[in-house]
Amino acid sequence: MNTSAPLPASSWLHELQDRLADLKDQHLLRVRRTVAPAGGPLLQVDGQPMLAFCSNDYLGLATHPALAAAASEAAHAYGLGSGGSPLVSGHSTANALLEHDLARFVGLPRALYFYAGYATNVGIVPALVGAGDALFSDALNHACLIDGARLSRATIHRYPHADLAALEAALASSPARRKLVVTDAVFSMDGDVADVPALLALCERYDALLLIDDAHGFGVLGGPNGQEGRGTLAHYGLTGDNASPRILYMATLGKAAGVAGAFVAGSDALVEWLLQKTRSYIFATAAPALLAKSLQASLQVMQTETWRYNHLQQLIARLKAGLAPLLLRKPWQLLPSSTPIQPLVIGSNAAALDAMEALRSRGLWVPAIRPPTVPEGTARLRIALSAAHTLLDIDRLVQALAEHAASSTEQQH
Ligand SMILES: *Cc1c(COP(=O)(O)O)cnc(C)c1O
Repeated sequence: MNTSAPLPASSWLHELQDRLADLKDQHLLRVRRTVAPAGGPLLQVDGQPMLAFCSNDYLGLATHPALAAAASEAAHAYGLGSGGSPLVSGHSTANALLEHDLARFVGLPRALYFYAGYATNVGIVPALVGAGDALFSDALNHACLIDGARLSRATIHRYPHADLAALEAALASSPARRKLVVTDAVFSMDGDVADVPALLALCERYDALLLIDDAHGFGVLGGPNGQEGRGTLAHYGLTGDNASPRILYMATLGKAAGVAGAFVAGSDALVEWLLQKTRSYIFATAAPALLAKSLQASLQVMQTETWRYNHLQQLIARLKAGLAPLLLRKPWQLLPSSTPIQPLVIGSNAAALDAMEALRSRGLWVPAIRPPTVPEGTARLRIALSAAHTLLDIDRLVQALAEHAASSTEQQH
């Protein structure tokens, strides 16, 4: 029996249908597909096998047997759920050991392990700054840094992407005593790397703190010869004895590390402060120990299977070389990126969706990224490479793009 009162005709709840229809008309309606792994970079998408170039599993570790074995052993030893927030009863010995390993791996004094990256940034930014303080944010920062900034109530200064002169001008004119600069280390939709040494120099000059989000650099950049994925600070030599007390390093563990979660690392005092003050840490159930155990295994694999780094570099080079002739013929632009994120800017939303469809019909899955995630007019295919790809996989992608380019050019004539 339905006892609820009918919606009045004037109710705002009726608008939702119209607004959903508008999103669809503007090509902005997001679609979820159900996926299952089908071996290596293959995904079963809505039942169809597809060669996927959409995963942030840059090293191919999400299906690594050593990680799965660690998880299943830990499930038996620790059980599944952690049962509580970290400050009550959820901080398992596995999670404590992982924090120790993470800090060592990235070469910083101390780390704090979170269940998700989004929750980390929306929590730590308000723990650091509040009303009356100033926050300086790169225009291309990830949504969770933006949301954290809003939640903090600090005065927000958004500077144009990577524009150090604009940042310096904003820092110089801010009267706030506490200043926080926040930036992605590797930009998630462009693949470029922030100039961390230059940002740090500005932070030193204006007594600011620097928070860097290395979701796409951790596991990908850094380490001896760039082969151990110790992250963007290691890439710039800003770890160990060269670590700055002004830098707070954040990275996620669901991308290259192949599992889930995130961590922040920095000086003992900064990390202790976050442990005391981050609401998304204090009032949330701790991550399960089985994840921490598989993450410890992931860190091991990164240090032993260094072939994954060399292979990724080969894949990136193959893609660039393969696309070069195409870019002479089409108004497409491959953004300059040395990371596994290789964005191919197509332009309009409709053209980007067309390209995605054309690839899909050939069994390839590359997501079209549209505004508001990226600026108007720069809708793109975000090609994400993984050590799980082969050189032949790259050739297949290049071939399919060439075919689409040829047929879409014909249609214009
Ligand atoms: C994915 C991502 C996050 C969010 O991390 P989750 O663990 O997925 O919640 C944060 N920052 C950046 C730059 C990201 O790309």
